[in-house]
Amino acid sequence: MNTQLNQLIPKKTIILGFEKHYLKNKCYNIPIIQSFICNDFQVCFYCNFCLRFHYHGRSYNGIGDGHRSCHCALQESPFYQTGYILKLNQEQTQ
Ligand SMILES: [Zn+2]
Repeated sequence: MNTQLNQLIPKKTIILGFEKHYLKNKCYNIPIIQSFICNDFQVCFYCNFCLRFHYHGRSYNGIGDGHRSCHCALQESPFYQTGYILKLNQEQTQ
């Protein structure tokens, strides 16, 4: 665990854009969220709606990018229905 990296993770949700995806035959604009490496196994980002970090495994494709079910506990979260697409902060991949 690199605590140095952890301090670089901003305490806000960074939405990079939206991508259209079909879920259950319905088209949704799914947010692309900047994620950060937080340890050898997980990426994370701070959720503005739950006011906490959401952690996702990196085993998916090594870096953790891709569509994920949301980890939001609040049904009011705009991510709740669609999930989100994680995109790793490029500065951390070098
Ligand atoms: Zn959340």
